Amino acid sequence: MTLSVSPPSSAVIAELEAELTALLGARNVTSELRARERASVDGGRMSPIISELLPLGLADLVAFPTTAEQIGEAVAAAVRHGVPVTPRGKGTGNYGQGIPMAGGLVLDLSRARAVVEVAEGLITAEAGTPMVTLERAAHATGQQLWMYPSTAQSSIGGFLAGGSGGTGSIVHGTNDAGFVAALDVVHGTGSPELVHVEGEEAQRFVHNYGTAGIIARATVRLEPLQDWRGVYASFPDFRSAQSVLRALGALEPRPRLVSADTPEMTATLPPDPAFPEGRASVRVIADARTVTRAAEIVEAGGGRVEDVREGAQTALSLSMLSYNHPIEWLQKSAPGVYFHVEVSGAALIDRVDEVHAVYEGGLLHQEIGHTGPIGMLAGVYRSPEQVLDGIRALGELGVGVHNPHQWNVDFQLGRTLETAATTDPQGLLNPGKLNPGYDGPTKGAIR
Ligand SMILES: Cc1cc2nc3c(=O)[nH]c(=O)nc-3n(C[C@H](O)[C@H](O)[C@H](O)COP(=O)(O)OP(=O)(O)OC[C@H]3O[C@@H](n4cnc5c(N)ncnc54)[C@H](O)[C@@H]3O)c2cc1C
Repeated sequence: MTLSVSPPSSAVIAELEAELTALLGARNVTSELRARERASVDGGRMSPIISELLPLGLADLVAFPTTAEQIGEAVAAAVRHGVPVTPRGKGTGNYGQGIPMAGGLVLDLSRARAVVEVAEGLITAEAGTPMVTLERAAHATGQQLWMYPSTAQSSIGGFLAGGSGGTGSIVHGTNDAGFVAALDVVHGTGSPELVHVEGEEAQRFVHNYGTAGIIARATVRLEPLQDWRGVYASFPDFRSAQSVLRALGALEPRPRLVSADTPEMTATLPPDPAFPEGRASVRVIADARTVTRAAEIVEAGGGRVEDVREGAQTALSLSMLSYNHPIEWLQKSAPGVYFHVEVSGAALIDRVDEVHAVYEGGLLHQEIGHTGPIGMLAGVYRSPEQVLDGIRALGELGVGVHNPHQWNVDFQLGRTLETAATTDPQGLLNPGKLNPGYDGPTKGAIR
């Protein structure tokens, strides 16, 4: 790990604590050990490689700004004192990218959660607003978010800075592909100004963990609300389940999510009559107009529809069984056994047996993404070398891989370095994550 800043002294932290207390109120600043510990971990425990390295850092101070303007003031105060600042939303990022590796201030944004405006096609909210709150506010105006992650309780700031996509990505791609209309960003220069950026300029702050600037407010895109159904299907084996995924993904109007799991993976999901024992599961958030056609596709592929559910909660429930969630359930079912890598490409369907064989106990959780099959490949964990050897072997099969066992900014690294040279000249924003020498697999590999 490269750290360009030194941990702050206790005298400096005491001064900053006093200043932040005056600014935010005593209830919104703490140096209590348990609060600092809680603010210094994220979903990185999903990775056995990162888990073995923990603790990777401990905050000296935690502050909870309650408005976008307070975010600007708090960042400016920390920077003026030369104290590192690590932003935090809900803390679900799963690469360890939210860990304050140089100590300093963790800025927990979960109390800055106002929905500022819902307009036609656009919603603006403060950085800590949960994605599910945005979706509900959009629904109230007959609209829906372009996308939200399976961690629907996570924050808009964390999703844009640390996540990629989720429900809706099958139509709109990842969250760097037009989803963001505008951001108000705080630079690490000592100024509390909220710098308004739009379009391409806003993209400079997506996927880089706050290392180029901290998002205080975001405007993202909405579309007209659709009437969604949850279609639960089961198949005798994973191959027949996979045989229908492309056709389900191509339904018009397009579905919002298409997920599939092997019988073994399905058995670890929360019990549901729609998950019969020993069968592979396919789940679709389908436009109500396409349910009949979806059932025909399922039956033609040798499957059967177990249930069709409706109601506001249905899409959310299915989302929370997608992307990394099945991996999390698998890990819960056998603690300390499994790791995973993020994968993409036609080979996930066309060469699934070879893909499964790359790692001992290989199990694929599958989604249909914007440009084709994507997923999470789990395997029995042996060593960091085994994980890297497998990443190479997957590459030879034509599988794109993103390595979730490291916290380096790995998307548009050059652009972020260029931006941060101006916006964070002292390297105080989330230190440890922006490493010019990083040359591993990049996030772009799974687009
Ligand atoms: C079980 C599970 C399922 C998941 N499913 C998905 C999924 O479907 N799609 C997906 O994309 N991700 C997924 N993730 C990863 C993660 O949950 C999401 O990316 C989530 O949206 C992150 O939001 P958060 O509020 O928890 O961010 P945090 O974890 O708090 O932060 C994430 C990163 O962004 C930085 N950050 C936080 N707020 C800001 C801000 N305002 N400005 C700048 N930087 C900031 C943090 O320092 C950190 O580096 C999953 C993780 C788990 C554990």
